[in-house]
Amino acid sequence: MALRNILREGDPTLAKKSRPVTEVTDRIRTILDDMADTMHAASGVGLAAPQVGVLRRIFIVEVEEGKLFELINPEVVEADGDQYGEEGCLSVPGYVGNVHRPEHVKIRGIDRNGKPVEYEGEGLLARAFMHEYDHLDGILYTAKADNVHIPKEDE
Ligand code: ZN
Repeated sequence: MALRNILREGDPTLAKKSRPVTEVTDRIRTILDDMADTMHAASGVGLAAPQVGVLRRIFIVEVEEGKLFELINPEVVEADGDQYGEEGCLSVPGYVGNVHRPEHVKIRGIDRNGKPVEYEGEGLLARAFMHEYDHLDGILYTAKADNVHIPKEDE
């Protein structure tokens, strides 16, 4: 188990565009493993490589415990519908804000073995895919959100 440091909003790395992975090597698989450990330790539901200082197009999502999605070089091939709801980010700890996202998305990419994969997501899973995808283009949800705030304890 290896934990990586999660960069916070304001770190210039988070505003940069990540580059595609040209070859899925053991180094990439180690990054994926470390990202999962880091996300689990922080009780997050998604993490993108730039959040741990790696400017590569890689993200992971786990909105349902035990159901981990790993995507390398993801492309959003379908996005439809609209949902408006609260999200947060491990790079902006303690805050939440409301963001519009597509209700349904289809994403293609490659997995840790370099094989093509395609995933569909609805609701929270679609939201998580889009949130993490934005990180790869240097976009934090706070740039899109209304009323970013610290939630009250009874929320
Ligand atoms: Zn985030």
